[in-house]
Amino acid sequence: MRDNASSPLPFIDLQAQRARISDRIDAAIGQVLDHGAFIMGPEVVEVERELAGRTGAAHCLSCASGTDALIIPLMAADIGPGDGVLVPSFTFTSSAEVVALRGATPIFVDVDKYTFNMNPDSVRQGLIAAELAGVTARAIMTVDLFGQPVDFDAIRDIADEHGLWILDDGAQSFGATYKGIPIGKFGRVTSTSFYPSKPLSCYGDGGAVFTDDSELYEQMKRVRVHGNGGGGAEAQCLGLTARFDTIQAAVLLEKLKIFDDECAKRNSVAQRYSDGLSDIVQTPQVIDGATSVWAQYTLVSERRDSIRESLSNENIPTALFYPLPLHSQAPYRDCPIAGNGLPVTEMLSKSVVSLPMHPYIEPGAQDRVIAAVRTALR
Ligand SMILES: *Cc1c(COP(=O)(O)O)cnc(C)c1O
Repeated sequence: MRDNASSPLPFIDLQAQRARISDRIDAAIGQVLDHGAFIMGPEVVEVERELAGRTGAAHCLSCASGTDALIIPLMAADIGPGDGVLVPSFTFTSSAEVVALRGATPIFVDVDKYTFNMNPDSVRQGLIAAELAGVTARAIMTVDLFGQPVDFDAIRDIADEHGLWILDDGAQSFGATYKGIPIGKFGRVTSTSFYPSKPLSCYGDGGAVFTDDSELYEQMKRVRVHGNGGGGAEAQCLGLTARFDTIQAAVLLEKLKIFDDECAKRNSVAQRYSDGLSDIVQTPQVIDGATSVWAQYTLVSERRDSIRESLSNENIPTALFYPLPLHSQAPYRDCPIAGNGLPVTEMLSKSVVSLPMHPYIEPGAQDRVIAAVRTALR
């Protein structure tokens, strides 16, 4: 039998969550199987109401993925060829992909070394790069990386000054707050994802868009279903098949009941990591006045390969988010970039390493992770 002290740890433990609420989730899915409204059933309406209530946004539009949650508002606001959207290069591929899919131009900006989020100075440089490239900047896509809100006040100043709107990519940050206000209210639009590894997740793909802009909401509703919103034969614009499945809505409703508790647990886990590691390695920093939902817990070290090897020797998985800056990947090589390159993004892509992070990691298991990191950096 395997020694408990070296048994494999999961990076994210969805089974522990399932064990906690499996009866309720099975019953909720069973109800959908019984009523049979698999498309836009009552659970979809209910989960949209519940999600909007939690953010304080006037409208929530559920959809089929976090990526759809980003492209739907871009389509509804008619962002297209000749338009530019400022996007960090240090993020998941979707953030820039949706802009390029619209035929618009991602303008890549750098991030802050300590928060991993968009650097306002680089956003200003990005605006110059856009102008030089002959692109009309229309929006700023703030990405709340690893669960932490960007510094919205600083970004909003730039947006207001230049007549841009903010599309907040909150795929990793649903449940986080900035100055006491939940994510969902800071952009003209906020998008999130319920992909299984996100802090709030379903059992498949899913996403949602939040806005206070009723006109944009009505247009996004049309875009979600073939340009007619699912009613009537006539398309009023181009659209998608981007509905949220009723079964996934039923799963999400059950997970929302334990979500606040899970966020508190994630915060305790992050605190224990920081207490055990911040004296020897760069641990994540949350800006004053914000809370994170800790989608990832990410260290920065020139010796990340040693850290990974030491953890791997102890049967502890690690992950790299993100090992390749977007601006150096094939689809984006010709896109404008802020300033003379993105040095922090380049540095982070070579030095970040994420540790196992989920609400159910036991203190003893965490101490194994901490010990293995310390061994590597001794
Ligand atoms: C996961 C993620 C997305 C895309 O979400 P999907 O549901 O996988 O389509 C977009 N942006 C960021 C920052 C993400 O982490």
